Amino acid sequence: NVDWQGKRVTVAGLGVSGIPAARALHERGALVTVVNDGDDERSRAQAAELEEWAAARSASGEGAGGSREGITVRLGDGDTLPESTELVVTAPGWKPDKPLFLAAAEAGVPVWGDVELAWRLRGPDAAPWLAVTGTNGKTTTVRMLASILEAAGLRTAAVGNIGVSLLDAVLGDETYDVLAVELSSYQLHWAPSLRAHSGAVLNLAPDHLDWHGSMAGYAADKGRIYEGNSVACVYNAQDAATEDLVREADVEEGCRAIGFTLGTPGPSQLGLVDGILVDRAFVADRQKQAQELAEVGDVDPPAPHNIANALAAAALARAFGVPPAAVRDGLRAFRPDAHRIEHVADVAGVTYIDDSKATNTHAAEASLAAYEPIVWIAGGLAKGATFDGLVTGAAKRLRGVVLMGADRALIKEALTRHAPEVPVVDLDRTDTGAMPAAVLEAARLARPGDTVLLAPACASMDMFVNYNKRGEAFADAVRRLADESA
Ligand code: ADP
Repeated sequence: NVDWQGKRVTVAGLGVSGIPAARALHERGALVTVVNDGDDERSRAQAAELEEWAAARSASGEGAGGSREGITVRLGDGDTLPESTELVVTAPGWKPDKPLFLAAAEAGVPVWGDVELAWRLRGPDAAPWLAVTGTNGKTTTVRMLASILEAAGLRTAAVGNIGVSLLDAVLGDETYDVLAVELSSYQLHWAPSLRAHSGAVLNLAPDHLDWHGSMAGYAADKGRIYEGNSVACVYNAQDAATEDLVREADVEEGCRAIGFTLGTPGPSQLGLVDGILVDRAFVADRQKQAQELAEVGDVDPPAPHNIANALAAAALARAFGVPPAAVRDGLRAFRPDAHRIEHVADVAGVTYIDDSKATNTHAAEASLAAYEPIVWIAGGLAKGATFDGLVTGAAKRLRGVVLMGADRALIKEALTRHAPEVPVVDLDRTDTGAMPAAVLEAARLARPGDTVLLAPACASMDMFVNYNKRGEAFADAVRRLADESA
């Protein structure tokens, strides 16, 4: 337990995690300096608000040991470590090789991320965490898990990127029995003492390597989710790298390795048998070899990668003792978030699907595997990715391809190499107006029974503010097409 009174803490980064962290620390009596790279209008307004809040608290005798010191914000320099700092609390996105962290390491000052802070500040009766990480599928799996836990009558929340923030969940007034927590590789990197009840790594494909330095570094950070687990380490039996991470983890005695697979499950696994999700890991009835949980049709959408997400969520819920019927009810109640393989409309016998959230090749691979024949709309910012594997795998399913965005040439070249027979329309555009044009071209290529799939395999920021806006532009264009053909 930390004695916060008068402790000098540097918070790295104003923003969604920095501001609540600074407030929480100040409320505990710490002396807080926030350092921020940017010095723009927005950060100045945020800084002023935070300093005023702290000054008001101090004036009323509530702040930092009753002293008048509040929170100091230093804008325009996120690299110099303030003097006599005893602890740095960082926003998860800050790169580990930033001079601030090198200075902290040199001075022997520990660095915590937002997850570590929430973990350390949680109360003695805090709810256990069921934690999920992976390259793709985190948000979906965490929300499925929360839905299952709710169906079991447990007080819970999906915590992380969407929904409740970690600090709010841990420090807020709401009481929980258990939390379903999404953790990114960045957050895990900065969370040395986190010990989840059970954790899952859904899959492992190259992503964010610029941040982690290497694939090995990325994997090692993801693997932190298993450290100290008390009940189950859930891995993907069809992704050997995730099982390797379980083997390397230091867990509590009695903690089990539990696999999930789209094939027939072995002992200590969950998997699929004749379209039924079955559990061979947590079978209460000694007479039985396997416990049926749900049907493939209970999962929305019933695409293979999403069944895998459902099995991972089920494994964590079963590790927490949730009965089979609640797994089924929770999966049935679950609806996917927008822009994740979202059905937009059927027009002239063609189905239009929005998977704008497929911002990397591994994600696009999943949705391309779920349909056939496909008219594929792709392109955007490649973030250093190559497309040969993706295109080779999908070639046989493609009716045609429509390309746009900054790095479309990379996809086009891969198509020329591996699928020369597939017709490609290169819009040669990076303006937002390219989206309605893409939908019209796709409609022209498609035949009744086909699926037009927006799965860009790229980030959106060359053309749109974010993947949400990209998906909305697609859906708008599809709806206009529907109106015109009605
Ligand atoms: P994350 O939170 O990890 O970004 P999401 O649940 O938001 O993941 O899904 C992002 C995208 O990744 C989806 O739109 C889909 O294309 C793809 N996806 C989801 N689950 C998986 C999975 N298990 N394997 C591969 N791709 C997936």
